[in-house]
Amino acid sequence: MVCEQHGEALKLFCETDQVLMCLICQESRAHRAHPAAPIQEAAQQCKEQLQTQLQLLRGEKKRLEALQGSESQKHQEYQVHTARPHKPTHQ
Ligand SMILES: [Zn+2]
Ligand SMILES: [Zn+2]
Repeated sequence: MVCEQHGEALKLFCETDQVLMCLICQESRAHRAHPAAPIQEAAQQCKEQLQTQLQLLRGEKKRLEALQGSESQKHQEYQVHTARPHKPTHQ
């Protein structure tokens, strides 16, 4: 990965802005005062955060699937109930 502004390798992670940056970015006025972590460290941290996020998402997905399951069951019941009394109207 390369910095769009400077064409340098993105080796740092600005903890204030939560963005990847190159060494020149870090030297620039925009980030000079910001704490920066080496990208590997940040990636490790991100991974841990991602894992907890994923776990949360998985739980949410299960909940949604259960919800969807009961919804489609309802839908089927609805179709069964409405299909029976339905008669052609042209008689
Ligand atoms: Zn840069
Ligand atoms: Zn910054």
